[in-house]
Amino acid sequence: MLNHLRSIVQEVNSARDLKTALETIVSRIKAAMATEVCSVYLRDGDGKYMLMATDGLNENAVGHVRLGPKEGLIGWVVMREEPINLEDAESHPSFQYFPETGEERYSAFLGVPIIHQRAVLGVLVVQQAERRRFDEGEEAFLVTLSAQLAAVIAHAEATGVLARIGQQATEAKFTGVAGAPGVAMGTAVVITPVADLHSVPFRVVDDVEAEVAFFKRCLAVTRDEIKELGNQLKSRLNREEQALFDAYLSMLDDSSLAGEVTERIRQGICAPYAWSEVILEHELNFSSMEDGYLRERAADVLDLGRRVLSHLQESSRESRVYPENAILVGEELTAAMLGEVPKEHLLGLVSRKGSHNSHVAILARAMGVPTIVGAVDLPYKQLDGRELVVDGYNGIVYSDPGVELRKRYNAIYEEEQQLVKGLEALKDLPCESLDHHRVPLWVNTGLMADVFRSLERGAEGVGLYRTEVPFLLRDRFPSEEEQRVIYREQLEAFAPHPVTMRTLDIGGDKSLPYFPIEEDNPFLGWRGIRVTLDHPEIFLAQVRAMLKASESFNNLRIMLPMITSTSEVEVAQTLVYRAYHELLEEGYKIDLPPIGVMVEVPAAVYQVRELASRADFLSVGSNDLTQYILAVDRNNARVADLYHSFHPAVLRALQSIVTEAHAQGTPVTICGEMAGDPGAAILLAAMGYDVLSMNATSLPKVKSVIRSITMVQAEELLQRVMRMTDADEINAAVEEMLQQAGITRLLRPARTH
Ligand code: PEP
Ligand code: MG
Repeated sequence: MLNHLRSIVQEVNSARDLKTALETIVSRIKAAMATEVCSVYLRDGDGKYMLMATDGLNENAVGHVRLGPKEGLIGWVVMREEPINLEDAESHPSFQYFPETGEERYSAFLGVPIIHQRAVLGVLVVQQAERRRFDEGEEAFLVTLSAQLAAVIAHAEATGVLARIGQQATEAKFTGVAGAPGVAMGTAVVITPVADLHSVPFRVVDDVEAEVAFFKRCLAVTRDEIKELGNQLKSRLNREEQALFDAYLSMLDDSSLAGEVTERIRQGICAPYAWSEVILEHELNFSSMEDGYLRERAADVLDLGRRVLSHLQESSRESRVYPENAILVGEELTAAMLGEVPKEHLLGLVSRKGSHNSHVAILARAMGVPTIVGAVDLPYKQLDGRELVVDGYNGIVYSDPGVELRKRYNAIYEEEQQLVKGLEALKDLPCESLDHHRVPLWVNTGLMADVFRSLERGAEGVGLYRTEVPFLLRDRFPSEEEQRVIYREQLEAFAPHPVTMRTLDIGGDKSLPYFPIEEDNPFLGWRGIRVTLDHPEIFLAQVRAMLKASESFNNLRIMLPMITSTSEVEVAQTLVYRAYHELLEEGYKIDLPPIGVMVEVPAAVYQVRELASRADFLSVGSNDLTQYILAVDRNNARVADLYHSFHPAVLRALQSIVTEAHAQGTPVTICGEMAGDPGAAILLAAMGYDVLSMNATSLPKVKSVIRSITMVQAEELLQRVMRMTDADEINAAVEEMLQQAGITRLLRPARTH
């Protein structure tokens, strides 16, 4: 059974379009369950369920039989959201007869809902003439299959809404998670990992003969490479292994794989996509063979596939010219990928993976680039070269936008530009409420570009410098001297304002390509201070670089991430003191910087007094604190709806941290993304946070909101929300207050959830 399941899902997954996917589903299920009928119904735009494919019923009924959620047995399955298993379908009160299906011949009926993201996407049905109930095993098989196919069908459906070759493009909408606010209109540039057969972007080519010639050139290069490899290894290979090289070479012949690919290119499909499609189909054929020897050949096909693909992509990568209005689209975007595109060409980002507080989203907010993450159903491979609209306020992407939509987003864009102009005027004004309470606003940085943007926006200090960013952009650890130079730039740019440098915080979703950390549970694993205390040589080099860099500025603050125990603070402090004394002995004229502790895990919340008595300051990392209090991965789009910084548990923790720390006389900053949400900032200021540190883009927005309210209003709001038990209710209360204070729409929606 498991084999059947796996191979059906795999086959459906590799179908090129929805129709093929559904036809594969019905024929493969019918065969696997040895039934007489298998059909699939899918919900259409009007909320009705349409027969989309069948193996067993009359084919002419496809696209005609359509039922509402209360109609017939299909409607009954939809309403109940659970399987219906009947011995005699016709005698059921909900049975509705459609003469065009010819289903009067079948008694046994098993219908299973296909549920994706809590909604019934469709119904899978098997039927048989014999009067019998499908047994428990059969029912469980169909339920399992339906659960697995739901996401695949949703994806195929999403792909289906895109126009295919030769068709007139029509507007399509996809939803994700709002990553960075703002709107952008531009051309999609799909970025994929190199030589990954599963993520090759689909592109249409006009000059098919040139594409065929290009393909043949790449094949020739691969052929030479394989021959060369075969020659080199000749003396070390046995005859069977040598035969493998010949087999590889013959697969590249025109009569074999190459011929199939050429045919597809002639239909107008780009060579890399056509190649990947053919290879994956052959791989599937081989891997489902009974014969063990042949099954193993699937790996050879894949290997050959990757070799040729890397040549096909290498040439296109070399010649890649980014359009002036590029919107990067990919399965998973990384900081390094962002670096590939010239900044002035980058208008937006869209990623299938990730969530609001993934590091790529944080980086995008810092750069002010509208971003959507977690667009799980986005058929991203099909989007290359298409026009896109990115709505980073609401987490929506539109492809091939029509005239009306463009007009609407142009208007929002104009409104945004006006807003930015208005905010620029606030640069030199203090961040002060109407009743004259000062709320210092600092920035979070990582790149040098952030520094300039922050200074332009009137930041009063750096609350978090993510030192891992320069580490992420290299292919080895930077040396102590290299680090000193980078850190000094930051310290110098902000002097005399304070700059809080966090010691290396890798692990979780930040892994260095040259220091990979493979773990089942990376967010609960070797992260932050745990890594650096296990590697004092890395920690000491970094601290020495920071201290040296601070010479003559003396505006450095050092901060320790992911602290769970007081002993970690003590060991880290001892190392900092050691580095400091060594440097004094070496002749540096430096002050001992304040050392702070991040409160990012529940264990730290319960030990605030102990931590506060040891540290010079505390800083709340609300991104991690929210994920650990709510047990919701900050990076996982599936649970993005549950990641809510306004959850009462999070707000109570935040309040208790300030109260306890102040009782020890220790100042507290907050440097999670929450501080940059204007609504949240009001609550945090009312709680008593001494400094709010945020990305440079949010800073003027937060300043404008704080300048529009009184602290008395903020405190009243806080008192009210602290009595509430539901995050949505709290959200609504904050929203209402912002609205009443006359705060413009574009400042409000970038909520941290
Ligand atoms: C946080 O966790 O809130 C934080 C500021 O650190 P990072 O986002 O880099 O994990
Ligand atoms: Mg953190």
